[in-house]
Amino acid sequence: MILMPESDALDRDAADPGHRELFDIPPAQGGSYPEVAYFAGNSLGLRPKATRTELLADLDAWAELGAEGHLDAPRPWLPYHELLTGPAARLVGALPVETVVMNSLTVNLHLLMVSFYRPAADRFRIVIEDSAFPSDSYAVRSHVRFHGFDADDAVVRVRPRPGEDCLRTADVVDRLGSDVALVLLGGVNYLTGELMDIPAITAAGHAAGAVVGWDLAHAAGNVPLSLHDWDVDFAAWCSYKYLNSGPGALAGAFVHERHVKAELPRFEGWWSTEPATRFEMTPESRPPASADAWQVSNPPIFSMGPVRTSLELFDRVGMVVLRERSIRLTAYLEKLLGSVTATRALQVITPADPARRGAQLSLRIGGTRTAGELAKRLRFESGVIADAREPDVLRLAPVPLYSTYHDCWRAAAALAQAVPENA
Ligand SMILES: *Cc1c(COP(=O)(O)O)cnc(C)c1O
Repeated sequence: MILMPESDALDRDAADPGHRELFDIPPAQGGSYPEVAYFAGNSLGLRPKATRTELLADLDAWAELGAEGHLDAPRPWLPYHELLTGPAARLVGALPVETVVMNSLTVNLHLLMVSFYRPAADRFRIVIEDSAFPSDSYAVRSHVRFHGFDADDAVVRVRPRPGEDCLRTADVVDRLGSDVALVLLGGVNYLTGELMDIPAITAAGHAAGAVVGWDLAHAAGNVPLSLHDWDVDFAAWCSYKYLNSGPGALAGAFVHERHVKAELPRFEGWWSTEPATRFEMTPESRPPASADAWQVSNPPIFSMGPVRTSLELFDRVGMVVLRERSIRLTAYLEKLLGSVTATRALQVITPADPARRGAQLSLRIGGTRTAGELAKRLRFESGVIADAREPDVLRLAPVPLYSTYHDCWRAAAALAQAVPENA
């Protein structure tokens, strides 16, 4: 095996250190290093150290103030969600009036489709990618059925060309005809790690007369986004992957400025009305001209806390700086993997062009072993945490905030050890 020497990785870490010290890194359950080499941040990001302290402070305000905490807590609960709006908006390239943190991702997709999937007899189809995350697929199928259409007919699944793993922009664009009501794709595909050309596909969807929404679960906190300038109609993302806000953390939603004033149909609750009118207890809502109007319930403060802490961290470091380190780190992992995959039944299926991917490299595993079995070996024999998508895809995400060049070196060395060379 021609792997780079370990010292090369350590030298790079000294020169390009990231922000690992701000995170709790889990202990390894195997191998010769005390901490895991964590590559599952695209599935569940690690905990920022500040999250524990700040969440406990919010909890203690409840103990000390009871209901008075709504207004008198150090971070008052009534306007708490507004603390998240600015940092979330900057993260996705949106205006604050276009952005809100609420609910979870699939719930937000449903609430947004209530407003943005308005099928007509001759324009009712929804275009998704064939490798869509199952939740997105179930969500769109349930919406078309809700409107009385046949899901197999109304949901169009775009596939890569035979022999290819990733989608071509032109092939997606070609499918956007006058029958399409909604295009709803993942900004970064969860399985292959492919970063879609969001502005080009959004423009093509609009040219075809469709509404264009994006699921940014694997894009938010991973790649720079400019949702407002790209003229995206709506978007939603979760906060527990690259955004490090904890399991099941609250999600984000984006509604373009030109829609927030429009009279779109919407599902409402008491948090949909103007804050000033909320306690007038009137029978009719007066929604603000902002994404806040899509809120329904009063937000869970102790679930907002970790999202706030994490978004403030992204705000301080900056997505542009993170993306630059991400490109260096992913390129390093790619180079190391190259010397491992060359002689093994392993193949990187993520695009080789850094502009067409984020922090994730997906490997297709040949042979008889499943991805899950391989991930288990990496974990218990080498302390390397990878994410398995059965049957045959292993995902590795070097996360620019806390992953290191040495982590990349460990992953490549562990794979070389766990997968036999071709005879
Ligand atoms: C992670 C992920 C989800 C998860 O949905 P939840 O509502 O947060 O459970 C949905 N869609 C995509 C594309 C994802 O990557």
